[in-house]
Amino acid sequence: MAVEPAASATATAVATAAARPAQKPVQGAFSGAALRADFPAFDTPTHLGKRLVYLDAAASAPKPRAVIDALADTYAHHYANVHRGIYELSEDATGRFEAARRKVAGFIGAPSAREVVFVRNATEAINLVAYSWGRTNVGRGDHILSTQLEHHANIVPWQQLAREVGATLDYVEITDDGRLDMDDLRRKLEARPKLVAVSQVSNALGTISPVAEVVELAHAVGALVLVDGAQSAPHMPVDVTALGCDFFALSGHKMLGPSGIGALWGRRELLDGMPPFMTGGSMIIKVTLDGAEWNEVPYKFEAGTPAIAEAIGLGAAIDYLEALGMDRVREHERYLVEHAWAALGEIPGVWRLGPADPELHAGVISLVLEGIHPHDVATVFDHEGIAVRAGHHCAQPVMLRYDIPATTRASFYVYNDLDDIAALTDAVRSCQQLFNA
Ligand code: PMP
Repeated sequence: MAVEPAASATATAVATAAARPAQKPVQGAFSGAALRADFPAFDTPTHLGKRLVYLDAAASAPKPRAVIDALADTYAHHYANVHRGIYELSEDATGRFEAARRKVAGFIGAPSAREVVFVRNATEAINLVAYSWGRTNVGRGDHILSTQLEHHANIVPWQQLAREVGATLDYVEITDDGRLDMDDLRRKLEARPKLVAVSQVSNALGTISPVAEVVELAHAVGALVLVDGAQSAPHMPVDVTALGCDFFALSGHKMLGPSGIGALWGRRELLDGMPPFMTGGSMIIKVTLDGAEWNEVPYKFEAGTPAIAEAIGLGAAIDYLEALGMDRVREHERYLVEHAWAALGEIPGVWRLGPADPELHAGVISLVLEGIHPHDVATVFDHEGIAVRAGHHCAQPVMLRYDIPATTRASFYVYNDLDDIAALTDAVRSCQQLFNA
């Protein structure tokens, strides 16, 4: 049975939100304030009765009503296990689940939906490659290259792989303003690594790395490239075909979708050549007591019952983002970052990390307030209704690079506007007054 994905309501809701007349001049590519009406999280004041200023999208994003409705609608009316029922409800669920896979493929420019493997999150996507491709293709004496800019999810799986197979792991260094040192990359590529694992956007500093250039340089020495897209896919147009990379990992929960769903994209011939990561039901074509034959990709990598409603919810999140337009999402965040960077720069005692050029800086600003611990900063902010993340952001090598234990991180998304940045700078000043810093 041909099934239409549960997207039309979402698309209509988004189109309405985007077209809604703004209460005040639009700040950025669209009115963040108008879009906040799409997110029930903003309906409830914070514990001290303040308006919620949510600046923690880099950790996880709130969900628009369209995504929440898609989840509820799936569980209420379209839920059954996928790929196995010979009854209408299961075919309906399967059709919606597979439509979501096609949406992910389209969203990242993948040539085929069959190259999109549903996983729980970016961490699982990277581990899948490290275990399945890594244990098959990397051996004693081989090299792997990652960078100092990575989230632990793009470091620890490679450390484990290197330890287990006797390979060496090296890291591209970063400059004082948090960019990949491309000369160091060129030098380290001389060791002819088997794989380069690099994030497109750093969650700790907001740096946008020149991934297409990294791919070109890496391919020239025969290395494959895995791109950690956990922070890029939600915030800018991504085209894996244009990037030329070999693997791409993303998490649904950071791009307005549900938690528990993410995706790994890999080039077909690579996925075809890789052994399964986990085994069991769904990933086989035939099992006897003596052995089993694997299903074709992507099912070979999807053992067990998948996160069905969550995948469909991710499809709804993609509809929402595509209705806004990923170019405009990026433009909006670029505008916010430029303003926030300038406004924070006017406050003495505030140290901003990462590149100053907004072209190289995604919607993440990491701050250090001189003399005040980031956890204290986040606590004061919380009293003002501002949600930020304080800590090492699962990027301890970045903290080591700057010899700091932690930063306070503000991260922006489509629902933010200049009022949120004003709230942020006011809170920075209050914090400094409170601590006499
Ligand atoms: N990579 C980057 C750059 C991230 O920011 C994150 C999440 N903070 C991850 C990987 C891991 O994502 P998840 O926790 O959803 O697996």
